[in-house]
Amino acid sequence: MSLYMFPKEKLAAFVEALLPNYRVVGPVQTEYGYAFDDIASPEQLQLDYTTTVLPPKKYFLPQREVLFNFSNEADDQGQPHLDVRPVYADVEPTVIFGVHTCDMNGIMLYDKVFAEGYKDEHYAARREQTYVIGIECLRPCDSAAFCKDMGTLTAPPVYDLHMTDVGDYYMVDAGTGRGEQLLLDHVPATMARKEDIQQLGHVLSAKWPNFRMRLKMSKDQTPSLLTLGYRAKLWEELGEKCLACGSCTNVCPTCFCFDVQDELDITMENGARARIWDSCQLREFALVAGGHNFRETKASRVRHRVMRKGKYIKQVHGLLGCTGCGRCERACLVDITIPGTLNALSDEMQLEPGD
Ligand code: SF4
Ligand code: SF4
Repeated sequence: MSLYMFPKEKLAAFVEALLPNYRVVGPVQTEYGYAFDDIASPEQLQLDYTTTVLPPKKYFLPQREVLFNFSNEADDQGQPHLDVRPVYADVEPTVIFGVHTCDMNGIMLYDKVFAEGYKDEHYAARREQTYVIGIECLRPCDSAAFCKDMGTLTAPPVYDLHMTDVGDYYMVDAGTGRGEQLLLDHVPATMARKEDIQQLGHVLSAKWPNFRMRLKMSKDQTPSLLTLGYRAKLWEELGEKCLACGSCTNVCPTCFCFDVQDELDITMENGARARIWDSCQLREFALVAGGHNFRETKASRVRHRVMRKGKYIKQVHGLLGCTGCGRCERACLVDITIPGTLNALSDEMQLEPGD
């Protein structure tokens, strides 16, 4: 695709031009920190944000989403007939501005999870209607980020447009044809010249020393480390500390487990099936018929989460289940972190770097 540029002072005009045609969302300042939210006017958009409490996954997989309505009504012959109608509520053309590279990696994983095997029509409907506009991270959000370790410091091919701040201009890579059209229809962008592309190269190479590494091992070693450490003492220690609150999974851009609930109206004839975010850290998550709980202890649940992040999801989808965004570290009240856990496991297993 093509590389464009536009002056930074035109950003407001770009957003303004999009507003009549699209729902525009992006990072805004709130009393709790930054959050992705609806943009009503360009000055709300904070592209220089650190990170948001929740990732943009909520626009693809809402916290609560009705999948279909059902009713049990008599047909023309008076026989009971179950009528099921899919619901695609609030699916509208949406532009998400300012997605960091870690969160784009989260979207790349979701694209696999919800499209491989059974295609999730609800996810697909939202995804198809959503333009992703990324912003290149030139410095870490804060000390909890470990995107460099996880290889998510570069933009994966899920964006429609990807912007890099190169001083007075944004350089914009058009990742899709529809993204290119969105740009050209809404802002006076020009093709980047050879010297602009060289400047972009300088900006991109200058950013790497700003990011530190936090893991004692390479990300490619985490599946074997977790295999080796399945019976480590560490899990009991973490289980003792964990509050089983589920905050870590709620804020995670790669967690996608959900509960499915049927909600009946007062006649018990009509209702809706909804899916709602769930958390493997909650005791009820693994509670099944007969009162059996196949992950009763907190130790087993903490281990399961880390196993999914560093091993299981990769086995199924080919990508690690952690983007290094650091949100679970910020959210956890007892300081259970992914780098801390993997490093402690490496110590317990007495691995040397490079093992
Ligand atoms: S496990 Fe934690 S650091 Fe990794 S993607 Fe999820 S929230 Fe981010
Ligand atoms: S946020 Fe921390 S305390 Fe809460 S469930 Fe996750 S690891 Fe446990």
